[in-house]
Amino acid sequence: MSIYTSSNPLDALAVENFREYLRIPSVHPNISYDASVAFLRKLAKDIGLQFKVYEHFPGKPVVVISWIGQEPNLPSILLNNHMDVVPASEEVWVHKPFAADIDENGDIYGRGAQDMKSGSIQYLEAIRRLKKDGVKTRRTVHVSFMPDEEIGSDAGMKDFANSKDFEDLHVGFAMDECFPNQGDVLAVATGEKATWQFRVHIPASSGHSSQLIQNTAGEKLHIVLGKFYNHRKEVLDKLLRNNLKQSDVVSINLTEIHGGVQSNILPSEIVMTFDCRFPIDSNLDDWENTLKSWCKEGGDDVWIEYLVKNASAPETKLDSSNPYWVAFEDAAKKINLKLRPQRLEGITDIRHVRSLGIPAIGFSAVYNTPNLEHKDNEFLNVDIFLKGITIYYNLIPAIANA
Ligand SMILES: [Zn+2]
Repeated sequence: MSIYTSSNPLDALAVENFREYLRIPSVHPNISYDASVAFLRKLAKDIGLQFKVYEHFPGKPVVVISWIGQEPNLPSILLNNHMDVVPASEEVWVHKPFAADIDENGDIYGRGAQDMKSGSIQYLEAIRRLKKDGVKTRRTVHVSFMPDEEIGSDAGMKDFANSKDFEDLHVGFAMDECFPNQGDVLAVATGEKATWQFRVHIPASSGHSSQLIQNTAGEKLHIVLGKFYNHRKEVLDKLLRNNLKQSDVVSINLTEIHGGVQSNILPSEIVMTFDCRFPIDSNLDDWENTLKSWCKEGGDDVWIEYLVKNASAPETKLDSSNPYWVAFEDAAKKINLKLRPQRLEGITDIRHVRSLGIPAIGFSAVYNTPNLEHKDNEFLNVDIFLKGITIYYNLIPAIANA
C-alpha cells in the first residue's frame, strides 16, 4: 500500500530509493550483502559517483562511494554508515519489517528505517542534488557502507579503519550515525564509552548435588557475581543521588549464564557473560586489573575470555581548533538547526576512526521522532526523511569546503 506522491520528482526518487533499500533484508544472522552491494552500485552509477568495494573478509564487503573534490589531495570527508540491521520479530510488527509500507500519516515502516538506512540514502540523495545544482567542493566526500556494525564490526569498521585501504582515503573528518532526536534539537556525539564484553569462566569440582562439597561453581559464582554487583550498586546509587548521565558512569550488566547438565549434578563449569561500558576518561588498564581481582576472589582458576574489548578513543573537540566543526556549526546556524553536543552511551563504528586521532562526530538529521532503533515497528516519517536530505545538502558542502 502506498499513498505517497510528490510533485517534486527528486523527492519521489529519494523515497523510492529509501523504500527499495529497506526491502533488502540485510538482517542478522548470516547476512548476504550481495543485494545491498548491487543496489548501492546501481545508485552510485545513477548519481554519477565513483564506486568501490573492498572485501577484506569473504562475504563482508565494505562499499565506498566517492564524490571527488576539486582538490583531491586535501584530507577527505567520510560519511560512514552500515548496511546491516538487527532482527525483527515479524509477528509483533504492524507492517512487515521488510516491506517498507507507508501508512496514511506518511510513516515508512521497516527494519533499518532509523538505524540506519535512512541516513545512508539521505547522504546519497543530498549529494545527487548538490551535483545537479552544480555545487563543487574542495575536498572529496566518501560515503562508506560497512558490514556487521550490529555484531561488533570485526569484519567491518574495526578492521577497515586499521587498513591501508582506509589510510588511502586520507580522511580528515568523519561523520556517522547518532540516535534519532525526539525533539527539534539535534545531538552531536563527540565521544563514546568503551565497550567490553567478556565471559567469566568458573571451573569447579563436580559431584553429586546431595553433598556439601567445597569449591563448587555455585559458591564461586556467588562471590564473583557479588563483586560485580556490589560495584554496580555503588555506581547506580551515585548515578541516582547525583543526577549523573549514563554516559558519565561505568555500566556493569550480567547478560548470560550457562552451565550444568542435570539437576542432581554439580556443574564442572559455569560461564557468566558481562557487558561493561566505560566512560571516556576511564583508565582501562586499571579496569582490567580490577576485573581480574574480582574473579580471583572466586578462585585462582576463574578466568576471563574477552569477546569485545574496545581501546579508549579520544573525544572529538568542538571548538575553534576543529575547522570542520566550525564549518558544520556555521552551516547549521544558517538553516536554524539547534545542536546539542553530548557523549554517547552506546557505541557506533565511528569510535574506530576516532581511535586513529581523526576528529569525528555522530549526527542524525532525524528529529521529532521517537527512538525506535532495535525496537518493533521501527518507522520514519517521509517528511522527516526528506527534510534530512535538505539538512545534509547544507552541511556536506560546508565541511567539504572547510
Ligand atoms: Zn546503527
